[in-house]
Amino acid sequence: MRDVPLADLARWKIGGPAPAYAKAGSEEELRALLAEVGGGPVLVLGRGANVLIADDGPGAAVLQLEGEFAGHELLEGTIRFGAGALISAVVQTARRAGRSGLWILEAVPGTMGGALRMNAGTAEEGIWDRSLWADAMWPDGTTRRVTRGEVRPRYRAIDLETEAIFLRGELEAPPGDPDAVEEEHRRRRESKLRAQVYDQPTCGSTWKNPEPPAPSAWQLVDRVGMRGERRGGAQISAKHANFIVNLGDARAQDVIDLLIETRQRVLHETGIALEPEIQFWGFPDEVLRDVGAAR
Ligand SMILES: Cc1cc2nc3c(=O)[nH]c(=O)nc-3n(C[C@H](O)[C@H](O)[C@H](O)COP(=O)(O)OP(=O)(O)OC[C@H]3O[C@@H](n4cnc5c(N)ncnc54)[C@H](O)[C@@H]3O)c2cc1C
Repeated sequence: MRDVPLADLARWKIGGPAPAYAKAGSEEELRALLAEVGGGPVLVLGRGANVLIADDGPGAAVLQLEGEFAGHELLEGTIRFGAGALISAVVQTARRAGRSGLWILEAVPGTMGGALRMNAGTAEEGIWDRSLWADAMWPDGTTRRVTRGEVRPRYRAIDLETEAIFLRGELEAPPGDPDAVEEEHRRRRESKLRAQVYDQPTCGSTWKNPEPPAPSAWQLVDRVGMRGERRGGAQISAKHANFIVNLGDARAQDVIDLLIETRQRVLHETGIALEPEIQFWGFPDEVLRDVGAAR
C-alpha cells in the first residue's frame, strides 16, 4: 500500500504517511517484501510506543508483523514469543502461570520485537538480561540467531544493526511462588500507573536517565522549569516531567521544539547532555543532532 497514514498506528498519534506500508505474517512473506524493496530502507513498527514519526512521514517503507509473529507459548522454564506479540499478552501469561521475572515488563506497552530492540525493562534490568536468544532477518532475507553475548545489552540499547528485524525469541521464565509473582506484578503495575501517564498519548520516558550520581531525567527537566511547558499541541506532562503528551493536535515539530529547548536548558544549567530514549523516524541530521540522538 502507498502513502499510508501512520499517526493512528503510533502511540503518540503523530506522524505523516509512509510511502509504502505492508504487513508480514510469515518469514516467507517478510522475505518477499524485503526483496520487493530491493535493499532500500525498511522500518519495522511495533505499536509505536517509543517512536516519533516526522510530520512528513518516515521517508522509508514501513512494515508490521502479524500472523505467525503474533503468538507466544509457555514452555518448561521459558516463554517463546513472536516479535509481533504484545508485551502485555506475554506478561499476562507469565503472571497467571506464576512464572518469575516478566514483571520487569509489567505495564510496558508495545510488542516483543520493540522490546528486544529497545532492551525494554526497568532502570536496573532489560529484557536481554532474561533472553536466551532471538532470531532476526536481514534485508537480504538471511536469518540468524543472536544471543545476549552478541548484542551486548545495556540501558535501553543493544549492539545489532538497525536493519535487523527480530522475528521471535525466548525468555527465561522459571516457576516461582504464584502469590509472590502476582504480588510483584501488582506492586509494579500500581506504581507505574500512579507515577506515569497512561490516559493520554505519550511515548513513555522521553530521555534516558543519565549515569548516576547525576539526577534522573525527570528531575533535570523539572530543575530547568520545563514541567508543564507547552509548544503547539504537545506538553511536558505535569504528572511526570519525563513524559510528553499529545493534547490532541500535536505535530512532531511541537515535540521537537520541546526536546530542543529542554536539552539546551539542561545543558546550559547543569552541563549534562540529555540523550533521548525515543526513536526518531524521518528527521534530518541537524534535528537529530539538536535533540541529542546519535546516528
Ligand atoms: C506509558 C508508557 C510506559 C512505558 N514504560 C516503559 C518501561 O517501563 N520500560 C521501557 O523500557 N519502555 C517503556 N515504554 C516504552 C515502550 O513501551 C517500549 O520501548 C516498547 O518496547 C516499544 O515497543 P513497540 O513495539 O511499540 O516499539 P516501536 O515504538 O514500534 O519501535 C521502537 C523501535 O523498535 C524497533 N522495532 C520494533 N519492532 C521491531 C522488530 N520486530 N525488529 C526490530 N526492530 C523493531 C522500531 O523499528 C523502533 O526502532 C513505555 C511507553 C509508554 C507509552
